[in-house]
Amino acid sequence: MSKIEMKTPLVEMDGDEMTRIIWQEIKDELILPFIDLKSEYYDLGLKKRDETDDQITVDAAEATKKYGVAVKCATITPNQARVEEYGLKEMYKSPNGTIRAILDGTVFRAPILVKGIEPNVRTWEKPITIARHAYGDVYRDSEMKIEGPGKAEIVFTGTDGKEIRQTVYDFKDGECGIFKGEYNLSHSIESFARSCFTYALDKKEDLWFSAKDTISKKYDHTFKDIFEEIYEKEYRERFEKNGITYFYTLIDDAVARVMKSKGGFIWALKNYDGDVMSDMLSSAFGSLAMMTSVLVSPNGYFEYEAAHGTVQRHYYKHLKGEETSTNSVATIFAWSGALRKRGELDNINALCDFGDKLERATLSTIESGKMTGDLTLITSIKDPVKLSTEAFIKAVADKLSSLL
Ligand code: NAP
Ligand code: MG
Repeated sequence: MSKIEMKTPLVEMDGDEMTRIIWQEIKDELILPFIDLKSEYYDLGLKKRDETDDQITVDAAEATKKYGVAVKCATITPNQARVEEYGLKEMYKSPNGTIRAILDGTVFRAPILVKGIEPNVRTWEKPITIARHAYGDVYRDSEMKIEGPGKAEIVFTGTDGKEIRQTVYDFKDGECGIFKGEYNLSHSIESFARSCFTYALDKKEDLWFSAKDTISKKYDHTFKDIFEEIYEKEYRERFEKNGITYFYTLIDDAVARVMKSKGGFIWALKNYDGDVMSDMLSSAFGSLAMMTSVLVSPNGYFEYEAAHGTVQRHYYKHLKGEETSTNSVATIFAWSGALRKRGELDNINALCDFGDKLERATLSTIESGKMTGDLTLITSIKDPVKLSTEAFIKAVADKLSSLL
């Protein structure tokens, strides 16, 4: 069989720990035998980031702007423990944060539904897609630890020299604590809103947006106002024509409604809310390892990845020579999503078809009872077979060969 040809390279961002191991296996077993892979490779593994003072992350994001489609492996966001473990020169920022800051845009996260893995919430019949705003707020904040008495203030100094000043808190004698400043850009919120409305129309699903405007009367309220204005001006008519709705509600009300819903809608959330709620939703839909993630930039750049992290605990087992059973489904779907998108943009039907078949092969492997340990614990399939990390990928490869 001849391999599928590509026109434009895919931006390939390698990563860390167990997902780096999975990455290589997916390429060897599921991609390279079938596709004449054109990729521009960026090693975002922590060692390389340290060697390049994190320039490699910026370069990878810039390459995504050049080519349009990227596929990314999970990466370590360093904390103090990682700085010591890897002897890092500094505590680099989250690569995802850096990439999002450069590409702007919105992260859509959707659970991968498969027969035999039923959601924990009995009413959920369809996937709930989370649209997470991928810019600013707490991920780009400035924080201070306050050790002694003094006044914490926020100050805006206009280029004309005019100052606006507000006291945040007057720390008294004997008091210490913390404080921070956050920001966002109207431009980014507008493109967030437009990506969400566009995605909802594309999927023909209702769009919910929630924040805490009653408490955060300027910050969150601005998000609410921007969504409303753009909806009324640019989208209401098309939403009505398609029989879908947009509605805003407070985040706590939204959480309560989500738990009673049937699913089948898109839930837009601010950056931090989206971070938290997507992990809640993915585990409630089955497993953290069954959630895909795609960053859609308003300029039409796409970056596909798994929503989970580097699965550190499994990696340490792997290093000790013990067998692991790490779920590669979301990482496989990152590759299938990226290849399909590349195929769409370059008009290569065979590539789109390959993406579809790779997904079908993965799901039907699970439906046939072969799966990784995280899924054997929750499946309703009788007598499931627990496979090792490698054996699962090989089983998918067998199915894929028979489909192609
Ligand atoms: P994690 O890697 O997502 O893993 C948390 C736990 O969830 C695992 O210990 C495992 O549970 C389960 N799990 C996650 N993915 C799985 C998979 N594919 N198959 C089977 N089980 C899976 O999160 P973490 O341990 O909090 O973070 C580890 C590292 O990942 C951190 O350095 C963090 O910075 C990074 N991270 C990166 C990204 C990203 O690049 N997008 C996202 C999140 C975190 P059991 O141990 O119970 O089996
Ligand atoms: Mg998270």
